[in-house]
Amino acid sequence: MTTVQPEPPCGDRAGRSLVGVHGVLLDIDHTLVDTEAAFVAALGASIVPLLDDRGGSESGALLEDLLAQWSADRGGWYRAYTCGEMTHAQQRHRRFDELLVDRGGRALTTAEYDRANTVFERAFAAAWRAFPEVPDALARLRSAGIRLGAVTNAGRALQETKLAAAGLADAVPLLVTVETFGVGKPDPRVFREGARLLGLAPEEVAYVGDEPDIDADGAVAAGLRGVHLRRAGDRRFAPCDQARSGHAEAVDLLDLLELLGAA
Ligand SMILES: [Mg+2]
Repeated sequence: MTTVQPEPPCGDRAGRSLVGVHGVLLDIDHTLVDTEAAFVAALGASIVPLLDDRGGSESGALLEDLLAQWSADRGGWYRAYTCGEMTHAQQRHRRFDELLVDRGGRALTTAEYDRANTVFERAFAAAWRAFPEVPDALARLRSAGIRLGAVTNAGRALQETKLAAAGLADAVPLLVTVETFGVGKPDPRVFREGARLLGLAPEEVAYVGDEPDIDADGAVAAGLRGVHLRRAGDRRFAPCDQARSGHAEAVDLLDLLELLGAA
């Protein structure tokens, strides 16, 4: 993530306030952990060398291009995994192939995929970092009496390792994963289970995530309060239309503290 100054959050601050919220459920990837930087490291280590063999080159532009396509997941493979329609390995193999074939390469055999994925995983895990404000913001939320938990569409083992590597294992308990119901957000059960595990009613809980549709709007549809975390430099989604969406927007977790009146 670059150091671009954040755009002002949409809507007036009063309209965005989260009065009556006593618990916060947090998405992990791109919300607590700078997964984008980790993906750049992983794609650079695993995919770029395969493209070099076919006349590619390791340049910033290529990595940026790979990251954009990876994040967009135009084929909907990751979404298929979170809907229980594919295994994790199946969706990732399809996504590797898409990156390679679209740049003149060829699809990988299972053995080639396994080798590339081992490299990907090693580089990905070595690059997991919390966003800079996250540890302090979580400590302040907890000091303000806000109950905290993580709710993710990824698998438990992966996310436990990731939170530990980012130094967040003690700061935020992992409550709900894709294994809990066999499907992920925006299935309303996922959000409601997180609230239940916090010991709160859905309307007392805010869900904070970087994807407005599956995170913020999904939470609102499940009866929680939704917050789209739109960090500086994140151009994936247009500014929200709160009158239409019913979710709030924050630029980082310190901004969330203000919304909660806990700053
Ligand atoms: Mg996320």
